[in-house]
Amino acid sequence: MERTRLASFKCADLGMDCSFETAGTTEREVMRTFIDHAEEAHNLPVLPADVIFRVQKSIKNSCEVHISRDIINSRASTARTK
Ligand SMILES: [Zn+2]
Repeated sequence: MERTRLASFKCADLGMDCSFETAGTTEREVMRTFIDHAEEAHNLPVLPADVIFRVQKSIKNSCEVHISRDIINSRASTARTK
């Protein structure tokens, strides 16, 4: 089973007026992409701890959405094969 783009984040999640969004297979990957973006686009070479916390929380929320969708999908396919 393919597991791609499990975690995602967008600047709008932080209430930023920015259309940036990123997705990756891991929280770390998404966070790293966001750190690069924040440095270039928001002039934030070092992210404040509260921003990091909110980004992590947002990524986790996106993961949970994907995981619960996977559970629903796997249940649906089990039902179909019966
Ligand atoms: Zn941004």
